[in-house]
Amino acid sequence: MFPLRKIWSKSRINLLQRCQRAFVLRYGLAKLSQHHPQGQLLSQSFEIQSPWILLHQAIRGIILDYAEDYVIGNVWSEGLLKARFQADFSQMITNRNNSVERINSFDIISKSQFQSVHIEPHLLEMGIQICLNMIRHQTFRSLLEEGTIQRLEPTHSIRKEQIRIYCSPDLVHKGNNGTSLIKLHLMGQLTPFERQHQSSLLQLYGDSHSPVIMFQLKRRKWHVHQSIPTNAQRTQAMQLVEMDIQRMEDAYTSIGKRNDLSKVPLADSYRSCMHCNVKFLCPSRHGLEHAKAEQRSLMCQ
Ligand code: SF4
Repeated sequence: MFPLRKIWSKSRINLLQRCQRAFVLRYGLAKLSQHHPQGQLLSQSFEIQSPWILLHQAIRGIILDYAEDYVIGNVWSEGLLKARFQADFSQMITNRNNSVERINSFDIISKSQFQSVHIEPHLLEMGIQICLNMIRHQTFRSLLEEGTIQRLEPTHSIRKEQIRIYCSPDLVHKGNNGTSLIKLHLMGQLTPFERQHQSSLLQLYGDSHSPVIMFQLKRRKWHVHQSIPTNAQRTQAMQLVEMDIQRMEDAYTSIGKRNDLSKVPLADSYRSCMHCNVKFLCPSRHGLEHAKAEQRSLMCQ
């Protein structure tokens, strides 16, 4: 019934941690009912991102475009970078607004759930500044100056122990130091353990000697963390992935054979619901605590 393939990605496990019900809707029911109008609505609603997330996607896209062009000798001026960023971010906002319009045409969605937005000048200015900070960064520049660069899309996956893992680096650099795996981390701060876990999975795209270079964004500045994960760290990372897969399978199972969502646990905190894209389908739209109390009484019956 539900996906039989074992698939791991950071976004899957993040959503599962935030809310089991949202996870089942996104990665279970939305896929299962993709040919049904309401299933399509479910998928489309998950595609709508906040301007804040789009800003970070635009930054990543521009930096990777810049790197790709740089290594073939096409070096952008800062003016070109600014113009490209403005055009790309504006296009993303326009696409988002078109999706909002489309989705609001379904009568079952409250018009307050998704709203059109305008480009905020301070976001534009921030995005451009962050891109400029990267292309002026010494470590980034020295990677571009020597060797070759290959860009990998986030859809690029790798298979390990029967599990399809989506955790690709953004760039693979081949140069005097062998293969280096480069990742841009834009949103949220990683603890040293989370960074080590992610680096160990990123290294699957190289070899056991490949350095992993993470550029982490903090208050508009880029901080570099470079490491070569050990054998023990890679093994531990895969053990954690297997545990995550088990939790995902338990979540799929909780829906039962009749695709009954009533017993799938709701989020622990109302904060998870604040920006949830499928709130319009969830009993917690009338209050999380009330919905949880109803669920508890249902489970006692
Ligand atoms: S509204 Fe809250 S409880 Fe409902 S699916 Fe979203 S995060 Fe989970």
